[in-house]
Order: sequence, then C-alpha cells, then structure tokens
Amino acid sequence: MPRPIEALIHVAALTHNLGVARRRAPDAKAWAVVKANAYGHGIENVYEGLRGADGFALIDLDEAQRIRALGWRGPILLLEGCFETRDLELCSRLKLWHAVHCEQQIDWLAMHKTHEPHRVFLKLNSGMNRLGFTPQAFRAAWTRLNALPQVDEISLMTHFSDADSERLGADGIAHQLEIFNKVAADLPGERSLCNSAATLRHATRVGGDWVRVGIMGYGGVPDFPEHDAAHWNLQPAMTLRSKIIGVQELQPGDTVGYGSRFTAERAMRIGIVACGYADGYPRHAGSGTPVLVDGQRTATVGRVSMDMIAVDLSALPQAGFGSEVTLWGKGPNGSALPIDEIAHAAGTIGYELMCALARRVPVTVE
Ligand code: PLP
Repeated sequence: MPRPIEALIHVAALTHNLGVARRRAPDAKAWAVVKANAYGHGIENVYEGLRGADGFALIDLDEAQRIRALGWRGPILLLEGCFETRDLELCSRLKLWHAVHCEQQIDWLAMHKTHEPHRVFLKLNSGMNRLGFTPQAFRAAWTRLNALPQVDEISLMTHFSDADSERLGADGIAHQLEIFNKVAADLPGERSLCNSAATLRHATRVGGDWVRVGIMGYGGVPDFPEHDAAHWNLQPAMTLRSKIIGVQELQPGDTVGYGSRFTAERAMRIGIVACGYADGYPRHAGSGTPVLVDGQRTATVGRVSMDMIAVDLSALPQAGFGSEVTLWGKGPNGSALPIDEIAHAAGTIGYELMCALARRVPVTVE
C-alpha cells in the first residue's frame, strides 16, 4: 500500500474559474498564468482545464516548451522576458512573445539575427518597483524597440502592487493606473494590466486587452482578508487529502508532538494523519488549524512534523483509523476547506501553499 496522501487536480474547477475571470473582464482576452509549474498544480495537469484561455503566461523557457509539446499553438508570453541573449533563439523557434523590461533586453534584440520578427510586451514600472522601465525612460524604450527590424509588434504592460488591498480599495490601483495611462496615452498596441486581484475588483475601471489570470484560476483568492473564494464564486482546483494512520487516547496533562507544544486539558482522542511539512503542509500552522475528517470540521493539535500531523477526534466518535482527511480543497459529501484558511493559519498566502506541494505527493487529475 502506498502512503495514503494524494493531491487531486480538478479540471472542471479550472475551466469554471477561467469563466469567472472572463465574466469579470468580458472585453479582454485572458492569459492563464502557469508560471511555477502552474502554481504547483503541474503544467500538464492544468492544460486541459485552462486551454480555453487565449494564451499562457509563464516565466521559464522550459515551461514554454512543455506547453508547446502539449500541442498549444496559440500565444505564450514570457512574463519576465529573456534572461540571456541566447534565449531569443528559442523565442523565435517556439514563437514566444516576451516582456521587455530593461535596456539589456533591447540590446540583445538589436543584436539578434532572426527571420521571425518578435512580438514584445514593453513593461512599465508604474510603482511596484520590481521590473520595468521608469515612466521617464518608457517612451525612449518604445522608440528604440519600434526602430528595430527584429520587432514587429509592441504591446504595453504594467503590474499592480496593491490591487488586492481591501484597505486601499479603489485607491490601491489609482496611482499606478494614472501613471500608466499618462505614459501610454498615445502609444499604439495592446495593453495588459490586470492580475487576479485587479480582474476581480477593478477590471471595468482598468480595461485593457489582456488580463493575467493567476491565483483565481486555481480557485484561490489574492491576499483578500475579508472575502473568501466562495464569495467570488471560485472553486478550488487542488485538493490535498490523506488518511488517519494512527489513533491515540490522551489523558489530561498528556502532550502531543515535538516540543510538547500541545497539552490536553481533558481526556481526548486524536488521529495521526499521513501528511507533514515534507508534503507541503505548512509547518507554521499552529494548533487549531482547520481540517476535515470524513468531511467534518475539526482542528490540528501540536506541531506539524515532517510526515505527520495530529488532529482532534474528540467530537467525531465515528472517525478513526482509515478516516479520510482533507487538508484543503474539496472534501466528501460537498464539504470544502479553502486553502486560504490554512494559509491564514500559517501566516502566509494560498499561493505559497500551492507552489510548495511536494514532489513526493502523487497527483491525480480528475
Ligand atoms: N502578471 C505578473 C507579471 C505576475 O508576476 C503575476 C504573478 O505574480 C501575475 C500576473 C498573476 O498574478 P495573480 O496570481 O495574483 O493573478
């Protein structure tokens, strides 16, 4: 018998979530963002569910090759562009569109000998201060690119830093949007501004020709403390589930796990689940993190170990050895446990948990 942990990838949920994005931004085309191995879900596992997108956006050339190998003939965008001059060769061969965010990337294009002209997304740093040309340098970069025979189409993009801020609300994008609109006002070309947060909350106001659908495609919410995925009609695309492989009866004063971080105040029954931080379950999730046992909500007790966690079974007399445990995602009988709740308990965001799913966890696509 293999260890009973597994991850399920729900194809229909991916398609459903993409549909939610399309309804929020009906006039825009949609990039399905599949960087970081499709946020930990596996490029090959999500392809079927997301192939209704207008294109795939990612970072690694290797992932672009994998999408082409799956038979995708449509647009693929390298969100960070090329990392060295020879990447341009592969861009030509695979017909990849690529971001251009710095002078070096324009230098490489200028030296590149190609039969296939390139389509680029010129990136404006409108305030995130990660990648992109400053508003002062943007138009000169556009002019330089426009003069290159190697480039046949220039689109424009920027990335919001605070589109997910409940506190800032509409103000979260106002400043960056104003800068983008001012700098790009009379430049031709398609525009791409919205990530999931902006697609969910600001798409009508922002506009643009392409939205970039990342986390919402996987059924997670951006860092929205007040609104969960169900509020936005998003469905989890990943379930992590396992089973109870041991049961312990505790007396008052007994402790659980490394560091004896949990002490029973009363007699209680706990189940030991075959899932730990080496599977991608966050070690920082403390006692009290929600979990479903046979679809019923209970909570973890004690520290997360490498291969195990303990859960309270005291109020679940039917549960025991072999019971199904849902760590996040869809449980039995219509039950559900949003990944964002687990992330919150561990002081992180759903993105990190998805991306951290360990290779040793077998994945089933359904
Ligand atoms: N666009 C860019 C440039 C990104 O870096 C990312 C992800 O970080 C996305 C879009 C997708 O973001 P999200 O997953 O929040 O939709």
